[in-house]
Amino acid sequence: MTEGAWVDVAPGVAVLGLRTPTLPPATHTNAVLLGRHVTTVVDPASPWDDERGRLLDALRGRALERIVLTHHHHDHVAGAIALADAWEASGHRRPSVWAHPSTAERLEGRLPVDALLDAGDVVDVEGVPWTVRHTPGHAPGHVVLEDGDGLVVAGDMVAGVGTILIDPEDGDLGDYLDSLQGMASRGAARLIPSHGPVLEHAEALLGFYIAHRHQRTAQAAEALRRRGETDVAGLVADVYAQVDPAVWPIAAVQLLAHLRWMERHGLARELSPGRWISR
Ligand SMILES: [Zn+2]
Repeated sequence: MTEGAWVDVAPGVAVLGLRTPTLPPATHTNAVLLGRHVTTVVDPASPWDDERGRLLDALRGRALERIVLTHHHHDHVAGAIALADAWEASGHRRPSVWAHPSTAERLEGRLPVDALLDAGDVVDVEGVPWTVRHTPGHAPGHVVLEDGDGLVVAGDMVAGVGTILIDPEDGDLGDYLDSLQGMASRGAARLIPSHGPVLEHAEALLGFYIAHRHQRTAQAAEALRRRGETDVAGLVADVYAQVDPAVWPIAAVQLLAHLRWMERHGLARELSPGRWISR
């Protein structure tokens, strides 16, 4: 699936990996097709014509009812308008675009959202009620869709390839952890991530994701205590000493999310912009 193959995940649920300009090592974003005949497409992401053509081919013989966006990031929404346009141009009724209000707000002027989705809303796909859950943390308007039977269209909450970036610009580690916990507590069994193959044993995996973030926070807290006053770059070189320096710029963004979390929990203090100390 990560290399662009078509995969049937469950009856009426298929995934088509489309090549996108996403964050390495991922190279594709999964478009999720819900419904056999009257179809909802989640995250038609590719900005490139050949990949968009593959999605249109996959939809041949179906009715495209709506497009759902899990969140506003470019590698998830870049194909939405083109898909709606192409569908309408071929003589069909234009599909409506659905997203969370925070996503709609961030896409304003670029991509019109026709219907707003919020926690608890139900998207009916050929009689299957997919419940919308608001899962902020990676992006403020992030939503996942749950079929009530353990299958979750998980967007960028988890990844089958690469890792999930929590950028404090529009993400929040505390929200992300709460969102992961919520998914686990509602009985997630299989997760369809936006990048990489379907992930089984969801509950254990979500627990691992949460534990991993707490472990990273503990590492950062320990390094901060040891270093005294420091900037984020110094902390990155410390915490990510074993990791290729090529990823340090991204790691710095990630670490800032941990520092903000520690700040909120009384474990760190920003003395002046970019200068941090343990407390
Ligand atoms: Zn994203």
